[in-house]
Amino acid sequence: MNWDFQFNLPTTIEFGSGKVKLVGEQVKKYGNKVLIVTDKGLAQTGILEKVTNSLKKENIDYYVFDEVKPNPRDVDCQKAYEQFKDKKIEVLIGLGGGSSMDTAKAIGTLMTHDGNLSERYGADKLEREITPLICIPTTAGTGSEVTSFSVITDTKLKDKMLIFDLNLAPKIALVDPELTLSLPPSITAATGMDALTHAIEAYVCNMAEPISDALALHAIELIVNSLPEAVENGNNIEARQNMLIGSLIAGLAFGNTDLGGVHAMAEPLGGLYDTPHGVANAIFLPFVFEFNIKANPAKFAIVAKKLGVSEEYKTEEQIALKGVHLLKELSSRIGIPKFSDLNYVNPKDFEFLAEGAENNICTIANPRNITKKDYLELFQLAYEYKGMDVHV
Ligand code: NAD
Repeated sequence: MNWDFQFNLPTTIEFGSGKVKLVGEQVKKYGNKVLIVTDKGLAQTGILEKVTNSLKKENIDYYVFDEVKPNPRDVDCQKAYEQFKDKKIEVLIGLGGGSSMDTAKAIGTLMTHDGNLSERYGADKLEREITPLICIPTTAGTGSEVTSFSVITDTKLKDKMLIFDLNLAPKIALVDPELTLSLPPSITAATGMDALTHAIEAYVCNMAEPISDALALHAIELIVNSLPEAVENGNNIEARQNMLIGSLIAGLAFGNTDLGGVHAMAEPLGGLYDTPHGVANAIFLPFVFEFNIKANPAKFAIVAKKLGVSEEYKTEEQIALKGVHLLKELSSRIGIPKFSDLNYVNPKDFEFLAEGAENNICTIANPRNITKKDYLELFQLAYEYKGMDVHV
C-alpha cells in the first residue's frame, strides 16, 4: 500500500475533571465579548452557571443564546445571527452536545460570511476562519469539539446538511468529564452509540489511513468497555472519562476520514422525523455492518474482535458476522429502541429516506458500493429486524 493522505489537528485539547473552571482564562486569549450557544436543558443542569461563573471571574462580557434544539435547525442559527450580529462578538462558546457545538459553528459562519447558510453546504465553501470558537462537550458522542463539520437541518429540504471546512475548527476543546455526570441513561446510550458508529465507520470506510485506524481502534475498545457501565452507573467518573476520551478520539478519526452508510441513513431519518442522531445510528449500525462485510472481511473481523467476538470462529466472515450480533446485543442491553419501536416511522417514507441516503455525502466513503436500492432494502431489513443472510 502506497499511503497518500492529509491529517489535520487544528484544535487544542484541554482535558480533565474541573477544566470548565478555566474557560474564562481560555476566552481571554481571543477577546472579551462572548456569545454562549447552548440549549435550555443545559441551563437546568447547572453547567451553564459553571461557565458563566468562570467568565464573571475574568470580567468577561457575555450573552447567552439557549434556543438550540436537537438536530439543530437553520432557522435557529439565522435567528441567533440576527439577534447578535451587531454585538461585536469576539468569541463563541459552543456548550452542550453536538447540537449546540454545531449551532455555534453555524453562527460563527454567518458572522464571518454574509448571506445564507445554504450557500455554505458542502466542502470548503468558507473563505476565512469563523469567529474564534471554544467547544465544551457535555455529551460523549459527536466529537464535534474536534471536527471541522457542522450538521444543520435544512427545514425546507427536511434533511440534514453538512458544512465541512477547516475554517470551522474550534480553537480549543475544553473537555471535562464531570460535565457528563448529569447525562440520563437514555442520552448516554444514544450518544455513546453515535461515538461507536463514528469509530467503526472511520475504521472501515474507504478513506481510512494508518493514523485514523489507530485512533478508531482505540476508540472502539474504550467505548465498548465503558458504555454499559456509563449507562448503568452514570456516577462512575472513570467510565464517563473513558467515554469522553473515546468519543473525542473517534472524532479525530472520522474528522480526518469520513463515515459511511450508517450516517447516510441516520441523517435523512433525523431530518424527516427528528429522531435523536445517536438512536438513528445505533439502529442502522448492525445492518450496514453486515451489508459491508464483503468489502473487507479482515477489517470487519478486527472490529468484531474488539466488540468481544472470541477466536473460536474460524473464518474472518464468521467472526465479522458474530460482531453483528454483538452490536445488536449491546444496543438492546443499553435500551436503544428497535426501528419499528419508533411509532412515528412510516414505511411509505422509506423511498424518500433511501433517496436522501444515496445523496448523502457519507455514501461516497462507504466501503462497499451502495445504491438507493440497497438503502431501501436496509431500511426494510432494519424495520423487520432481520439479518441480510449475506453469503460472504
Ligand atoms: P444533543 O446536542 O442534541 O443533545 C441531546 C440532549 O442532551 C439535549 O436535550 C441536551 O439538553 C441534553 N444534554 C446534553 N448534555 C447534557 C448533560 N451533561 N446533562 C443532561 N442533559 C444533557 O445531542 P448530541 O448527540 O450530542 O448531538 C447530536 C447532533 O450532533 C446531531 O445533530 C448530529 O448530526 C450532530 N453531529 C455532529 C458532528 C460533528 O462533527 N459536527 C458529529 C456527529 C454528530
